Amino acid sequence: MEFIEAPSPNFDARTSPPDILVLHYTGMRTGEEALARLRDPEAKVSSHYLVEEDGRIFRLVPEERRAWHAGVSFWKGERNINGVSIGIEIVNPGHEFGYRPFPEAQVAAVIALVGDIRTRWTIDDGRIVGHSDVAPDRKDDPGELFPWKRLAEAGHGLWAEVPPAPGAPLGEGEEGAGVFALQAGLTRLGYDSAPSGKYDAHTTAVVRAFQRHWRPDKVDGIADGETRARLIALLRLAG
Ligand SMILES: [Zn+2]
Repeated sequence: MEFIEAPSPNFDARTSPPDILVLHYTGMRTGEEALARLRDPEAKVSSHYLVEEDGRIFRLVPEERRAWHAGVSFWKGERNINGVSIGIEIVNPGHEFGYRPFPEAQVAAVIALVGDIRTRWTIDDGRIVGHSDVAPDRKDDPGELFPWKRLAEAGHGLWAEVPPAPGAPLGEGEEGAGVFALQAGLTRLGYDSAPSGKYDAHTTAVVRAFQRHWRPDKVDGIADGETRARLIALLRLAG
């Protein structure tokens, strides 16, 4: 792969090899602005790669080192996400500055980059996630316009579609066995969603993150029948 070297000083040592891939959007007005920030020693943030809208890929931090992209986060029991992940920043203004579809050249570059990274490290499909998956209370990126389905069709990550699934929607304020089962399923998939049986604000945030990734047509934090059916189908794939 062709990379443009753009070293960032913002990294330190890993304690174990990476086995999680975290996708982000930059959430800034331009790619140049984002690249400058990810290389600014004052900002203390970075990623391993940045993918521009025209498909150019910048390499900021060597994969063997820990970049600082995830912050306080959780996936499949792991809290030190930076220590065990590779972070890819995808240029997009994001929800704050004019969220827009990811151009074809950029999507193709991300898919190629993910494939390239996976030749070097063992990263399971169930460990290819978005920033919002690992930090659902704080983050919305890369967001519901990111083509997770296409990434999965290229062989990277989980995707499941289900026939129309009826069932009463579950939402904030509800309690009971159905909520407990939903939270248990989300935990099994990887989310920080310890079952309490109470559909609280955190559960809403987790369901919204799930929908951004796996049910992008409906991002409202309400677990309707189809949202729950997709979760079950994904758990079957994840094994
Ligand atoms: Zn992010």
